[in-house]
Amino acid sequence: MTDNVEPVRRISPFLLVMILVAFILSLSALYIAVNSIIEQTDILNSYSFLLIGFFGLALSVYMLLQTRGKPKHAALELPKVITTLECPKCDFKNIRDFQREDYIFKETESCQKCNETMKITAIYREAKKKK
Ligand SMILES: [Zn+2]
Repeated sequence: MTDNVEPVRRISPFLLVMILVAFILSLSALYIAVNSIIEQTDILNSYSFLLIGFFGLALSVYMLLQTRGKPKHAALELPKVITTLECPKCDFKNIRDFQREDYIFKETESCQKCNETMKITAIYREAKKKK
């Protein structure tokens, strides 16, 4: 059996909180900067606040875009679907991965033992092992 499950990149809630905090801090830095520029107090400091604010804002937006770049369905692991085939003559059973257009009672491949056409008897999702 082949396992072609793509590596899933999850966004940790911790990272999202960090981005949010960075965003809020930059906004308040910008607010302080604009305020002191308008009131013309401590011009030198207000420009460094402005710089910090813009830098933080750009950084948090960039990080947010990085985490949201992937389409949603990629984050979902597709469950494996199994098809069971049975030979009506010798009761030989075969299990394989589900293929497109499989349906129950469909006659498919021939039996490995007696060459009789086998029928699909079951299609089910493989149970996942959980901790
Ligand atoms: Zn058979």
